[in-house]
Amino acid sequence: MKINLSRLVQDIERYGEYGKNEHGGVTRPSFSYEDHQVRQLFIEELKEMGLEITIDGAANIWGKYKGTGKKKGSIVIGSHLDSVPNGGKYDGPLGVLMAKEIIKTLKEHTILLDHDIEIVSFTAEESNDFNLSTFGSRCFVGRLTAEILKDACDSKGALLSEELKKVGGGLDKFPEINKMHNNKKAFIELHIEQGQRLESANISMAVINSVVGTYRSVVSIKGDPNHSGTTMMVNRKDALTAASEMILEVERYCKAKGNVVGTVGRINVSPNAANIIPGQVDFILEIRAEAEGSIQEAIASIQDVWHEISDRRKVKVVQEVFLDQKPVLLDQVLVSVFENTAREMNEPCLTLPSMAVHDAAHMASITKSVMVFVKSIGGKSHCPEEFSEPEDIEKVGNLILQGIIQLDRTLSEKEIKSV
Ligand SMILES: [Zn+2]
Repeated sequence: MKINLSRLVQDIERYGEYGKNEHGGVTRPSFSYEDHQVRQLFIEELKEMGLEITIDGAANIWGKYKGTGKKKGSIVIGSHLDSVPNGGKYDGPLGVLMAKEIIKTLKEHTILLDHDIEIVSFTAEESNDFNLSTFGSRCFVGRLTAEILKDACDSKGALLSEELKKVGGGLDKFPEINKMHNNKKAFIELHIEQGQRLESANISMAVINSVVGTYRSVVSIKGDPNHSGTTMMVNRKDALTAASEMILEVERYCKAKGNVVGTVGRINVSPNAANIIPGQVDFILEIRAEAEGSIQEAIASIQDVWHEISDRRKVKVVQEVFLDQKPVLLDQVLVSVFENTAREMNEPCLTLPSMAVHDAAHMASITKSVMVFVKSIGGKSHCPEEFSEPEDIEKVGNLILQGIIQLDRTLSEKEIKSV
């Protein structure tokens, strides 16, 4: 039994038309007109497949393919259908459309599994105008509550609670979400890699065993703004040259260690004028690593060097942490089911951590979760060039199909014995 690759590729192309822009990219943020359209299309198609549809309070779309009922609960497969501005066709939709393809394949072969199989499309996974990325999965697992969200609005003042209602969700439906947890027995998310580890190894796929932790802080450096002509070099307290040294230390440390990645991707210089020595610089430091210890070690070591820089340059450094997301270990039983399935299929497969946060990282707090990555060409994502080869997509689709059949057998062994 194999998935139908040409049908899946057509689906990817068809869904990619919604929000397609003049650069060949896709702009389909959640709650936009294009998102409304694609949701409608998706729900219609799930109905045509005979699936049982549920839209929860966060407007996540669930479609259930009933199993034999011999085992309780469902194995869930999914991802998200929203995109970043000028993004690609694969980030998100691949995982959702693959779930649809897998259920279609099972149906065509008249195979009923013992568990129900469910598709989910999570709302607003990408960062959006409400500043709430991985919104749907965070709501689903209870990390975002109706209380937290009641006044949330976008930059134009639109209330999130109203936007949710337009797509079948609503804060009043949040109490029902908790009751949905119990019957989710496993969650599998297929995603493009968004990196070049698979391409460098010339391997089509990877099973993901953990999701990195992310630490972000705002770093403010206070120097002394002064006349750029009359202030001699020895008398300066230049916040920007201090910041430059500090940023280079982040790069030096992370390159030398190899187990962390560090980035300064945002910076403000004040007063930002050609004839004034920079008096203040604010930047955001981001550190990601698979192990919490590596993140802490990086911060401590970088800060030591920063102290030396600030003393020498006579600037003041203040740091405020605003994100401290711990690494998430995905379910090791599920990881080995997919690793073994790849081995049985004779498909080379790596086991890697995910360097980006996905819905699966949140789902892991309520059910056994795992991710599977497919090779990204050129490591590109969040851009129109985002691409994965059809033959890689086919391999990974068949891996998930076989992995799910295997999971259906091995999950809830105790329950089947008592039936
Ligand atoms: Zn994504």
